[in-house]
Amino acid sequence: MNSFSYTRAPDVASALRVITAEPTAKFIAGGTNLVDLMKENVERPTRLVDITHLPLAGIQRTKEGRLRIGALATNADVAYNELVERDYPLLSRAILRGASAQLRNMASVGGNLMQRTRCSYFYDTATPCNKRTPGAGCSAMEGINRYHAILGTSEHCIATNPSDMSVALLALDAVILVVGSSGERTIPIAEFHRLPGETPQIDTNLKANEMITAVELPPRGFSGHYEYLKVRDRTSYAFALVSVAAALEMKDGQIGEARLALGGVAHKPWRRKEAEELLNGKPAAKDNFQKAAEALLQGAKGFGHNDFKIELAKRAVVRTLTQAAGSER
Ligand code: SF4
Repeated sequence: MNSFSYTRAPDVASALRVITAEPTAKFIAGGTNLVDLMKENVERPTRLVDITHLPLAGIQRTKEGRLRIGALATNADVAYNELVERDYPLLSRAILRGASAQLRNMASVGGNLMQRTRCSYFYDTATPCNKRTPGAGCSAMEGINRYHAILGTSEHCIATNPSDMSVALLALDAVILVVGSSGERTIPIAEFHRLPGETPQIDTNLKANEMITAVELPPRGFSGHYEYLKVRDRTSYAFALVSVAAALEMKDGQIGEARLALGGVAHKPWRRKEAEELLNGKPAAKDNFQKAAEALLQGAKGFGHNDFKIELAKRAVVRTLTQAAGSER
């Protein structure tokens, strides 16, 4: 690990000032991904700006009825919060499918959004990786790519986003609140993470001198019919081969409105409105679920070891929708 300086930020303005003056500095909160990356020499910040003492850990309703989750709330705080458990149980379930209890106690919401891919070549500095060193090449393309993307890939990178939380946030239409030296702005979660394109080194549309302050959820949390299915190689502490977040508004066996998002299949959580439109106003029936799965996976392409994920994802979508539709909670 390289040597680095340390600053404890007393407030948001000070944290932003430091990061603006020293662009090679990085914010640190739980550190559950960044410290690993520093140990592997993948990340080499010159300074860590400790933001853990900023007042950004609250979870409360706004006066408009939205749920605001502070960026420094831990994953455990969110998953076990009574408002989240009651009104947004899809989010709670997705978070509890991720990592381990110890990690969820440390990892923050902001850090979860910013975590980097777990592509093993990205962590191995002896191998070429365009995300780590732009222009170097992609070792996964012809290498071991069992966990890699089948949607939204580019010739430069086929990595996946590892977050479970973000898949549920996407299905729930979350918005990310950020602040930078030029003020505050909001980013819909669908626009927060990026596809790799020609710049796979850039994971998100957060600017270098911006900080995530909170995540907001709309009042409607789809608490009646939902499911988060995570398919992985072992039953805990493993990243998704494929995950599915499904949320349905149901009336008399008909789907009023469907939300459907995939994890483990792309550089960002994956959602396609066309797939949901095939479900809206239709009976909750297997052939409709199958059509939605086909639409959601349209254009999917494997790279050898991960070819199986295309069929796996379709089956997982059908199963998740079946469970979400059948369970009145
Ligand atoms: Fe690097 Fe992306 Fe290729 Fe993995 S898939 S080796 S992260 S460029």
